[in-house]
Amino acid sequence: MSAADLVVRGGTVVNADWQGAADVFVGAGRVLALAEPGAPAPDGSRPEEVDATGLLVLPGGVDPHCHVGFTSGEFTSLDDYRGCTTAAVFGGTTTIVDFAIPGPGQSPLEAVRERQGAAGQGLCDSALHGCVVTWDDTTGEQLAAMAGLGVNTIKMFTTYRGETMADEYTVLRTMKAVGATGGMVVIHCEADHIIEEAQRLSGDRGRTGAEHMGDTRPELAETASVAEVLAIAESVGAPVYFVHQSSAEAVELVAAARRRGRPAYSEAVAHHLVLDEGAYAGEHPERFVCCPPLRPRATVEALGRHLFTGEISTVGSDHCCYDTAQKERHRHDVRAMPNGLPGVETRLAVLYSEYVAGRGLSATRFVDLVAAAPARLNGLYPRKGVLAPGSDADIVLWDPAARWTVRTGDLHMATDYTPYEGRELTGRARTVVVGGRVVVRDGALADPRPLGRSIPSGPVGPLR
Ligand SMILES: [Zn+2]
Repeated sequence: MSAADLVVRGGTVVNADWQGAADVFVGAGRVLALAEPGAPAPDGSRPEEVDATGLLVLPGGVDPHCHVGFTSGEFTSLDDYRGCTTAAVFGGTTTIVDFAIPGPGQSPLEAVRERQGAAGQGLCDSALHGCVVTWDDTTGEQLAAMAGLGVNTIKMFTTYRGETMADEYTVLRTMKAVGATGGMVVIHCEADHIIEEAQRLSGDRGRTGAEHMGDTRPELAETASVAEVLAIAESVGAPVYFVHQSSAEAVELVAAARRRGRPAYSEAVAHHLVLDEGAYAGEHPERFVCCPPLRPRATVEALGRHLFTGEISTVGSDHCCYDTAQKERHRHDVRAMPNGLPGVETRLAVLYSEYVAGRGLSATRFVDLVAAAPARLNGLYPRKGVLAPGSDADIVLWDPAARWTVRTGDLHMATDYTPYEGRELTGRARTVVVGGRVVVRDGALADPRPLGRSIPSGPVGPLR
């Protein structure tokens, strides 16, 4: 074993399939070994010691769904790679997967090149989803070029007509092409015709304000679209990953396909697992406008149960860093509002508090949901998502007993609000190592030097 420059001692290592007392030796940015507690450093080296007594030692979080500086219509979310990854690292996430959504007149390949060039500003690594909106004569070649650049997961939408919505033919062609090279389509499913009709009815009744968000995007739109996309995937034998599933019924459709042997996966996002539509009856409904919308409490509970059954594969943030001024501009018309919530920094803590500390979800399952499975399904495993010899030394020292209150002023996201303001949480990232460097130490920034890399995706899956 080569010389170690860092060792994390005295903690409980938690991987997706195992947890136990171990010291983690790190050298040249990689994990060298998991050793018996107190083991001597290799080759007589004298590594810097980080004390993890009483803490969990986790592989850095992998956020499979994170929008950095995302432009939709007249709005652009307010962060860049530097800002987003800083917030990510403070929250225990050390790899983000961003989206290269083509702007007007931009090709999918150009969108990828532009984003990959920004990765170096980051405090941690990043990967990318490409995006296809319309299939044309060049799309097959562009997908091959994107795969050559390490982009193997392709985002698609069945909603937002006239912007990013793809028709069924485009979905089928893209799935077939991407699946053939070991990649996967990741898709936002909400049947646009059902939403358009719901929005038209809401408009007729003068009920388009943020407080009516739930009525304008019904659960049925989601399940209808999921069923159709599953059929398309099955018809061409391609894998498929459903982003931000907000309904237990939609998750169950995917689970049924998986039981038939289909490679189909469900992602949930933290806000759908914790918050409910009651937020739209509050003082600031616009701050909770996201797509799909927050659902009734019974739906949230049913969705959350699938964290325990294993039917939900990953938990992302769907981070979209708008501020209150952007959210308020069209608060009386959800059809014109920017959709999305800031959440890259709170993803782990909210999930841990609600489900591990609160409801007894195992720590290993937590690590699977927030790190290992997102790494596997984005072709980043075992470089990311696990603490094992050879993996990147992205390590989170997690204090499972920390009690804290979420305050916007204590967070690092480039916005002036959090949907969790005032919420009491249990569990928090205390010290975070990125690529072998201690970037956050005891909750404070210890190393501001940018070290972000654009991590190429290999073939996706399978799950453990
Ligand atoms: Zn999203």
